[in-house]
Amino acid sequence: MNLLIMGLPGAGKGTQAERIVVTFHIPQISTGDMFRLAMKKQTKLGLEAKAFIDKGELVPDKVTNGIVKERLSENDVDGGFLLDGFPRTMDQAIALDIMLSELQKKIEAVINIQVKPEILIERLTGRFICRDCGATYHKLNNPPKVKGVCDRCGSHNFYQRADDKPETVKNRLEVNIKQSQPILAYYEKQGLIHNIDGSRDIDLVFADVKTIIENIG
Ligand code: ADP
Ligand code: AMP
Repeated sequence: MNLLIMGLPGAGKGTQAERIVVTFHIPQISTGDMFRLAMKKQTKLGLEAKAFIDKGELVPDKVTNGIVKERLSENDVDGGFLLDGFPRTMDQAIALDIMLSELQKKIEAVINIQVKPEILIERLTGRFICRDCGATYHKLNNPPKVKGVCDRCGSHNFYQRADDKPETVKNRLEVNIKQSQPILAYYEKQGLIHNIDGSRDIDLVFADVKTIIENIG
């Protein structure tokens, strides 16, 4: 199954994606994760993306479309994939349609996690991530079971994303609210959108996600 997960920054896309990957055995393709890895390795892509990411701006479409196209041509997406954080502009949505038609694939469902911006600020500024396996936590809403130890890999090494600092979060939300509306309308017209109330408990949100995926096709 070929899926998109949408929602503003902090809506819970990554958190739900972790569960979707385990339950449905499809790879998650997160453009944000790809950029963070490139920044960590200080590749040309990473250095180019960093200037935008640090300000809460979007990385230019040409760059972002290029990395997705490359990723979608890998063999592990043959049984399906979950795109997380892409497309974020109409240009990207159109580019994705072209890439998929070349690969004779199409999007089967768009899971749209809805959460009010006031809640998102609190979620983003409280988010922290395992440096070793990428698992996502929240200091109040979703801490590790044992304080300071990653549930998934046992690491003690966590970090806060530089773009989750309060001064960047506001701009990220504004940029994303503006860009996401036409994309949602585009997929709505195609009958692909499944809206989910993402302000509820993580497990309740996942129960809805699971039902949607199980009923595709
Ligand atoms: P996104 O990938 O959409 O930016 P994340 O999945 O990283 O969002 O979630 C943002 C923050 O909110 C994280 O700290 C995460 O632990 C927390 N979170 C995710 N889903 C929920 C939820 N349903 N209720 C409360 N907190 C949540
Ligand atoms: P995310 O991890 O999805 O919150 O993305 C973190 C940051 O990476 C965003 O604020 C953007 O600067 C950049 N980014 C991620 N995905 C995209 C995309 N599809 N288009 C442009 N920039 C992106």
